[in-house]
Amino acid sequence: MSFRLKTIIGIALIELVLLAILVFSGLNWLRGSNEQQIELDGELLSSTFAIATRDAIISTDLANLNAFTQDAIANKNIVYINVKNDEGRLLAGASSLPDDKHTPNYDQRPSESEDDIYDIRTNVVIDEWKVGEIEFGLNVSSFNALLYNAQKYAVAIAALEIVLVALFSLAFGSLLTKQLLKLQTGAKRISENGPGDTVPVKGNDEVAQVTRAFNDMSIALDHSYTEISHEKNRYKVLADQNMMLAEIVEQSHEAILVTNKEGKIQRVNHAFSKIFGYKEDGILNKRIMPLLFRQSMDTSPAHCISDAIENASIAMVKAQCLNHENVAFWTEITVFPIKNYSGNVERLAFIVRDVTDNHEFETKLKEAVTRAESATKAKSEFLANMSHEIRTPMNGIIGMSDMLQETPLNREQQGFTDIINSSARDLLYLLNDILDFSKLEAQKLSLQEEYFCLRKVVEETMTMISIDAAKKDLMLAIDIDPALKTEAYGDGFRLRQILNNLLVNAVKFTEHGYIKLIVTGSEDLAKNRVDYTFCIEDSGIGIPESKINDITTAFQQVDGTTSRRYEGTGLGLAITQRLLTLFNGTLHIESKENHGSQFWFTIRLPLLGENRSTKFALDGKNIAIINADPLHRAIFNRYFAHWCANIQYLNNPESISKGQTRYDVAIVLLSNNVSLPPSITCPVIGVTPHIEDRTPHTDDAGITLISKPIRMHVLLREVLHALNQKPLPMLEPSSDSYRPKFPDKIKKMSIVVVDDISYNREVIRVYLSELEPNIQFLSNAQQAFEQYKHRPFDILLTDVSMPDRDGYELTQQLRRYEHEHQIPPASIVGLSAHAGRQDFNRAIEAGMDSYLTKPIVREDLTEALIKACRARQALLANNAQS
Ligand code: ADP
Repeated sequence: MSFRLKTIIGIALIELVLLAILVFSGLNWLRGSNEQQIELDGELLSSTFAIATRDAIISTDLANLNAFTQDAIANKNIVYINVKNDEGRLLAGASSLPDDKHTPNYDQRPSESEDDIYDIRTNVVIDEWKVGEIEFGLNVSSFNALLYNAQKYAVAIAALEIVLVALFSLAFGSLLTKQLLKLQTGAKRISENGPGDTVPVKGNDEVAQVTRAFNDMSIALDHSYTEISHEKNRYKVLADQNMMLAEIVEQSHEAILVTNKEGKIQRVNHAFSKIFGYKEDGILNKRIMPLLFRQSMDTSPAHCISDAIENASIAMVKAQCLNHENVAFWTEITVFPIKNYSGNVERLAFIVRDVTDNHEFETKLKEAVTRAESATKAKSEFLANMSHEIRTPMNGIIGMSDMLQETPLNREQQGFTDIINSSARDLLYLLNDILDFSKLEAQKLSLQEEYFCLRKVVEETMTMISIDAAKKDLMLAIDIDPALKTEAYGDGFRLRQILNNLLVNAVKFTEHGYIKLIVTGSEDLAKNRVDYTFCIEDSGIGIPESKINDITTAFQQVDGTTSRRYEGTGLGLAITQRLLTLFNGTLHIESKENHGSQFWFTIRLPLLGENRSTKFALDGKNIAIINADPLHRAIFNRYFAHWCANIQYLNNPESISKGQTRYDVAIVLLSNNVSLPPSITCPVIGVTPHIEDRTPHTDDAGITLISKPIRMHVLLREVLHALNQKPLPMLEPSSDSYRPKFPDKIKKMSIVVVDDISYNREVIRVYLSELEPNIQFLSNAQQAFEQYKHRPFDILLTDVSMPDRDGYELTQQLRRYEHEHQIPPASIVGLSAHAGRQDFNRAIEAGMDSYLTKPIVREDLTEALIKACRARQALLANNAQS
């Protein structure tokens, strides 16, 4: 039976019962109350009759009684009336009944009469003495009709109500079942399609709320369902991974064991049985340590592994194990803890790799490396010694050939000495290259840190190659960003070497055109550093694309044939590349055959304060530049813009006086086609192509000449000079003078030179001939010390390697003596054939003030002496003051 039917029947039954009770009790009450009224009325009427007829009965006044009954019967409610005497004889009577069929029943209640007559009998009493009786029947048809009607309407109303209730419950039931039906359809859909479906819902009644709850449940179910399916997928993936890992473990060539926290074996793979020879069943639940280290539990690998088990930590050891046949083999054991999903260590995994072959190989390799290292050391030592041994005689060759060149020679002899000199210098360069390369290869070369002037390094390196460049008529240009900070801290010596290698190559491989060195910088103020980029550009023969990557490899040359045109060892770029690696830089090469090359690199150095800027140095000045080629125009543009001067390029000197502009200075780039005209209205600076004239000087007509490559500070200094302006302090010519002259003060100083080799002393004698009267040449340390004790000298030049007592010892001895006798320390300059940084450091540690390497370059020696002299003067002046 459907819910709707049940509802309808249920409601109808309840309604029926309630209505029946209501109708029944209502009718009962109606009948009871009316009956009571009829009975009361009947009693009243009968007693009234009794009183009224009492006397007539006693007197048997029939006429009166008749009249009386006739009057009574006239009342419509009285159907019949009989007046009887005490013996029951009818005295008078009247009836409105059509026949006399009515049988009175005085025990009946009004509602019980079937013929609508309620029979009443009353005794007529006088002083409790019955004198007669009166019988009459009351018409109760209206009462019965009332009852009947009441019954009829009550039933009708009840029936109507039942119908209405039935209809309502039908409608209500339908509504309810309709919503329930929707719910049912929704539930069915969910069961077919899975959760997530919802039933459309309207209103806010309980059913709607149930439906909403149902929808919420469906969505919640959907989420759970999705989560469950994700979980299921994850589980599947995990199961897959698990299987995969199990397979990997099983197929691994390395023995894999899993133990519990106490180190008792729980699982092993196939490789374990293969490597150790034990069956899995036989070793399960056994401790791993005795199995791995059967005989050597007190070794450090065993301790390491047992510590790892105890602390559930990771360890990796190399150890010798024994298999079940007691055969030893080398293993690499890795142990690590395995955590469960709550992060607690439950197991430990051991991976054991048989490395017997590797071990043997390693042992052999180590032996080979040791042998190689000692061979390399021996080689380095040999090279260092060789370099020293070769340098010493070469010092003689170069020095002597220098000296020879200064003696009167005929043309042929001059040619021979030139060749001796240049060959010796070439040999020296080669030697230095080989030494550097072997040091770099042995990783024995490290960068030093010192303050140096980047501009000076660049300009001097460029100057070094300028003679060779001039021989080929190559144009040289230095293009340093004028705003660049050039006070640097790092290994200026090695930077110079890198630049030199690249520039020497540029000259070597360029027949026509130019070589340009461009220096730019990018400052990172936050990190306090500058990235300097150096680019060496030439217009030479270039490098075929296929060779670019190879040429930085040692001994690689584009043309490696014996008939090659360009000489060289193929070491320059290899050294450069390796040196740059020490600077954390890389050499970049861009080149096109027959179209020139560009070599560039970037090095990072710390940022050192502000440079003394030359900005605005020529503020508002008008400068004429005559005969400038495009290469130099680019540089002039940059320089003069920085100095805030106005420049005008002119093609010939004559144009200066032609135009409107009044020039403050004219710069003329001299060439075969352009020479200085006799009269120019403004001061003139000539730029000569003759590279040999490195120091600015004046020509016969008093015009200042500077040489190429144009050095920024020289140019500015000379322009300021031409403008009669005060020279800027940073433009002091210290680094620019090619051959420094001895100041007069040095000539008053006493100088001692100690060298055991006579021709070395001879070389120095020639170089310092200007100072001759004050110099004393000695051949051993003892003589020098004795001399010092006898009369302390100002400056000592000492060879460091001498028999008996070397220069280091002599220095230490002198320093001790000075200390003991409170003598102002002499300036000591070491002279050595050892060019290494450690030799320099050793000299300084011994107490020397500076150090020169042989073969001694005249300019270096002069400079070192000038410095020593200045230091000595300052010291003596200080001492005099105090
Ligand atoms: P070397 O110059 O002694 O031969 P390097 O290592 O300095 O050795 O150079 C290797 C080779 O690279 C040179 O032989 C030359 O073929 C090529 N090379 C180097 N610099 C240049 C350049 N500026 N122009 C053309 N080729 C160059």
